[in-house]
Amino acid sequence: MSANARRAVVCGAGGFIGAHLVKRLKREGFWVRGVDLKAPEFAPSEADEFLTEDLRDPQVCRAAARNVDEVYQLAADMGGAGFVFTGENDASIMHNSALINLNMARAAVESRVGRIFYSSSACIYPEYNQTDPDNPNCAEDSAYPAAPDSEYGWEKLFSERMYLAYQRNCGIAVRIARFHNIFGPEGTWDGGREKAPAAICRKVAEAADGTEIEIWGDGRQTRSFLYIDECLEGVRRLMESDFTGPVNIGSEQMVTIDELAAMAMRIAGKRLKLKHISGPTGVRGRNSDNRLIREKLGWEPSLSLEAGMRATYRWIAGQLAARRGRASAPAPAGE
Ligand code: NAD
Repeated sequence: MSANARRAVVCGAGGFIGAHLVKRLKREGFWVRGVDLKAPEFAPSEADEFLTEDLRDPQVCRAAARNVDEVYQLAADMGGAGFVFTGENDASIMHNSALINLNMARAAVESRVGRIFYSSSACIYPEYNQTDPDNPNCAEDSAYPAAPDSEYGWEKLFSERMYLAYQRNCGIAVRIARFHNIFGPEGTWDGGREKAPAAICRKVAEAADGTEIEIWGDGRQTRSFLYIDECLEGVRRLMESDFTGPVNIGSEQMVTIDELAAMAMRIAGKRLKLKHISGPTGVRGRNSDNRLIREKLGWEPSLSLEAGMRATYRWIAGQLAARRGRASAPAPAGE
C-alpha cells in the first residue's frame, strides 16, 4: 500500500455486501477499516483493521470515522421477507438501524470525512405502485407520497432524508443508492434471514430429483435480482461521480418467483414440483428502473440473472456438501 492510499471505513463489513465491498476496495488500493458486530461468516475479512463493535454506540462511530476519506455505511438490522415482513422485528429494525445512521452521520461530520455512501433500499417505494406484478413503478421520483410496505422501508427513507439534511447543512458529500435484491456467493443462505435467490438455491440443492420444494405465496410475485459484483461496480461509480442520488442500483430483468425456481432447477439439472404455501412475500411486483442511473452515470448492470444464479447455486451446493461432510465425519478422539 502506498503512503498516500485513500482510506475508507466500511460499516457492516461483516455482512454480505460489506465483506465483498472490503475486498473490492482493497483491490483498488484503498486502506480499509471494517466495523461490524461480527466478522464475516464465510471468509476472513480482508480489511487492514477490523473493529468488532456496536455502531449504535456514538463512541464506536467516532472511532470508525477517525482519519478516513470515505465512509461506506451498510450496517443495518435486516434480513429477507421472513425477517422483515412478519412484523415481529419492527421495533428493533427501526431502533437499531436509525441509531446507527444518526450516530454515523454525526461522527462523519465531526471527523471531517469527505464523502459518505449510504445503502438505502427498493423497500422505500410505495406499496400502491407495486400491486401489479407486470408493471411495478420504482422510478426514483415515485418515492413520495411515501407508503413503504415495511418499517424497514420507513427507516431507510428517514435515513436517506437525514443524510441529505447533513449534506445541505454540514458540508459533507453524500451518495445514496437504493439496492434491489442483491445476491451472490458468501451471502446468508439459511437460518431465516436469507433472501429468495439463496433460499431457492438451497431448497433445490437439498431436494432429491422428482420431489417437491415449497415456495412462499402463489409464485407469481415478481422481482429483479442483482449480482453482488454489479452492485459494487455501481457503488464505486456512484461514489466517484458528482451525483448524490438517491439512485436505484438493481437489475431490470424482472422474473416471477416461479421462474427463478425454474432457473435454479435448470442449473441443478433437477425436475421438482413447486408447492405454494402461505408465507411473507412483500409487494406483488418490483423491478429496478434504471433510467436515472443510465442518465447520470452512463452505466447500468448487464450480467444476466442466470450467470449470477449459476455462481450462487454452485457456492450454496458446496456449503451444503461441506455441512454434510462435517456431520458424517467421525467425532475427534476424546469427544
Ligand atoms: P447483512 O445483514 O449481511 O449486513 C449488515 C451488517 O450490519 C451485518 O453484518 C450486521 O452484523 C451489521 N450490523 C447490524 N447491526 C449492527 C450494529 N449495531 N453495529 C455494527 N454492525 C451492525 O446485509 P447486506 O445484505 O450485506 O446489506 C447491506 C446493506 O445494504 C444494508 O444496509 C441493507 O439494508 C442494504 N440493502 C441490502 C439489500 C440486499 O438485497 N442485500 C437490498 C437493499 C438494501
